[in-house]
Amino acid sequence: MAQVQNLVLVLGDQLTPTLTSLAASDPARDRVLMAELHDEANYVRHHKKKIAFLFSAMRHFAEELRGAGWTVDYVTLDAPGHRGSFTAQLAAAVAEHRPERIVVTEAGEWRVAEMMKGWGERLALPVDILPDDRFLTTPSAFREWATGRKQLRMEYFYRDMRRRTGLLMEGDQPVGGRWNFDAENRKPADVDLFMPRPRAYAHDAITKDVLSLVAARFGNHFGDLEPFRYAVTRADAEAAFAAFVKEALPRFGDFQDAMLQGEPFLYHSVVAQYLNCGLLDPLRVCRQVEEAWRNGTVPLNAAEGFIRQIIGWREYVRGIYWLKMPGYERSNFFGHDRALPDFYWTAETDMACVRAAVTQTKEEAYAHHIQRLMITGNFALLAGIDPHELHEWYLMVYADAYEWVELPNTVGMSQFADGGLLASKPYAASGAYINRMSNYCAACRYDVKQRTGPNACPFNALYWDFMARHRDRVGRNPRMAQMVRSYDNFPADERARIAESAATFLASL
Ligand SMILES: Cc1cc2nc3c(=O)[nH]c(=O)nc-3n(C[C@H](O)[C@H](O)[C@H](O)COP(=O)(O)OP(=O)(O)OC[C@H]3O[C@@H](n4cnc5c(N)ncnc54)[C@H](O)[C@@H]3O)c2cc1C
Ligand code: SF4
Repeated sequence: MAQVQNLVLVLGDQLTPTLTSLAASDPARDRVLMAELHDEANYVRHHKKKIAFLFSAMRHFAEELRGAGWTVDYVTLDAPGHRGSFTAQLAAAVAEHRPERIVVTEAGEWRVAEMMKGWGERLALPVDILPDDRFLTTPSAFREWATGRKQLRMEYFYRDMRRRTGLLMEGDQPVGGRWNFDAENRKPADVDLFMPRPRAYAHDAITKDVLSLVAARFGNHFGDLEPFRYAVTRADAEAAFAAFVKEALPRFGDFQDAMLQGEPFLYHSVVAQYLNCGLLDPLRVCRQVEEAWRNGTVPLNAAEGFIRQIIGWREYVRGIYWLKMPGYERSNFFGHDRALPDFYWTAETDMACVRAAVTQTKEEAYAHHIQRLMITGNFALLAGIDPHELHEWYLMVYADAYEWVELPNTVGMSQFADGGLLASKPYAASGAYINRMSNYCAACRYDVKQRTGPNACPFNALYWDFMARHRDRVGRNPRMAQMVRSYDNFPADERARIAESAATFLASL
């Protein structure tokens, strides 16, 4: 065989056949390296299901590449040649194959991107780091968009993305005459025996091997390994998405913010894990959704709501990540420093809403957006949990979690720890919001209607106590000032009871 020119390193979230590093190389001449790395599976102790999903998807992608004529060196976690880290694994492959250069698509995460910068010198080879064109905008284009703006609001970014992609546009105007139908997407849901469920996929030999490996090697990581139902091939991920469009998308808009006991998925797509590792293409899924609307099978508020999440929020948070890293991960606007309570791991709490969100996180490596934002995130914000500790929790426990998307959502959106760079106000809410959007309170040992006392919903006293503790910071926000004024209008003895209830509850954590 001729000497290898390019050694193409494909990372675990780069499972896309049109990846720039592959497009710049030649299957007849070059060699692909993929590896299940101990360091990557452990730098935070990821949920067992997340590790199993990625290892199985990676192994299937290696097969897909071999089928397309590539020579792939795939190093499993338990292989004798396993070196544990990207750099050590590359060094071993360079020694064996003596390539002329290393070719890689840029990393999604700052930590790995920094590592890549050192490879040229360390391995004494040229390293071509190519842009990742699986996103609709680049970090430098986002920086340009952000430059000179007083506020970086997602809504304006999103409108630009609609114009650029032409999605849901009629000429230069949004279809339906409005950019955003969010106000129609806040209905509480009813229990429905015919609620659609995400497609479940049987285990083939590859997945069975991976499940045994993960059970043996990551038994002490958080979460349940089985039942394991994810798609692990591109074809199955596409089929799962097509099923969502047909069965759940028509009601996705209306019930996007709803929560129901025993219904972890409601009408959500459950595809972020496929998008984020490259099994699904973001623009393609948006075009499919637009087509469903044009065919009359889904309403506009559902199609617009879904497309906004992908070309709006997903791209926007990535832009913020690269704009603000490094350093963003240590943001702490409110100076919160309380340790994460044990029930984020055990789900052992009397708060029915938190118990439901953590239980399904443990079982499914999944919670939908409003559970992440308004239950576990909201509780952490009100209780003053250290945002960095919380960030590590979110990064560990969800199958779709990668730092570029998780960090801005946690630190910026949910904890307001960046002081309002990403969100226009803190997402702080009392039990009344949770009661309106879910049926959790009906079965809770706490009373959502009570503000203080041992039986009162803890979110209530914590909410008002948060306003009191941070009045200097939140009172300046026009959208929060009204709540601070409401607190000030409480009689003095009620304010004292709020402080006491909050302190008693926090001391019990
Ligand atoms: C504290 C917190 C942490 C989060 N961590 C992650 C994470 O690690 N990875 C991740 O992909 N999303 C994260 N999100 C965003 C969102 O909650 C998930 O994308 C969504 O719940 C995934 O479920 P789904 O595929 O059913 O999404 P759906 O509700 O069906 O939405 C469709 C798609 O839109 C995209 N999307 C929706 N909201 C967002 C958002 N706010 N930011 C980026 N993309 C979005 C996702 O790709 C998602 O698959 C987080 C949100 C919060 C509040
Ligand atoms: S009463 Fe409070 S703690 Fe209980 S489920 Fe409702 S919001 Fe959650």
